[in-house]
Amino acid sequence: MEKREQLYEGKAKKVFATENEDFCIVSYKDDATAFDGAKKGSISGKGVVNNRMSNYLMEKLEAEAGIPTHFVEEINDRETVVRKVSIIPLEVIVRNIAAGSFSKRFGVEEGTPLLCPTLEFCLKNDDLHDPMVNEYHIIACGWATKEDIETITDYTFRINNYLKEYFKGIGVDLVDFKIEFGKTKDGKIILADEISPDTCRFWDSKTHEKLDKDRFRRDLGNVEGAYQEMMRRVFGE
Ligand code: UDP
Repeated sequence: MEKREQLYEGKAKKVFATENEDFCIVSYKDDATAFDGAKKGSISGKGVVNNRMSNYLMEKLEAEAGIPTHFVEEINDRETVVRKVSIIPLEVIVRNIAAGSFSKRFGVEEGTPLLCPTLEFCLKNDDLHDPMVNEYHIIACGWATKEDIETITDYTFRINNYLKEYFKGIGVDLVDFKIEFGKTKDGKIILADEISPDTCRFWDSKTHEKLDKDRFRRDLGNVEGAYQEMMRRVFGE
């Protein structure tokens, strides 16, 4: 597929049109931001890790867990053909272990295992700092329908079950993660965006060492090393 004009540039990716209006090409950057864009930097090699890991996991989710995703074809280390969707403006957050904003907001110490996985919806809006919203807010404001939310909830817990087991197998605790869904032209909801160390908290199962973007957010050092370590665990490289 041929890369045509740039449609959009986000914080971590660029999106290009192709000759087929049902498909786009995403290009992953090394740019890193945190705190709604207030902190900016670059993580060398991140784009490659995120592109390859996200593609690998989405392919597995399709094949082994029956989750429809936007993944079509990896073109190279940083670029992938994806199905074109309109993004549902919600960040869907699943947690298995308390961390980050959950710990802060609810006073639950980071690292506390949760008795069952939790689900949160946040409105995608940096200016408003992605406020948490509930199902009534979502339906009332038309961000998604009741049926959409049911589909998203079903897919999301299936994704969590699958990924938790997968990461356990490579010695990583899946603490929490954020996913996004989109709607295709014919109204089908599919998993979109990415699944990567930018969007998941990964802790080494034994040492609890952080192997994700928290190393950048919290200035913990060895940020590149953490991304490369996740790449090594997933691809054995
Ligand atoms: N997350 C994300 N993008 C966001 C907010 C959160 O990918 O804009 C991910 C984050 O990496 C973590 C999970 O969602 O894996 C939960 O994040 P949390 O709500 O704890 O927010 P944070 O502490 O990162 O601000």
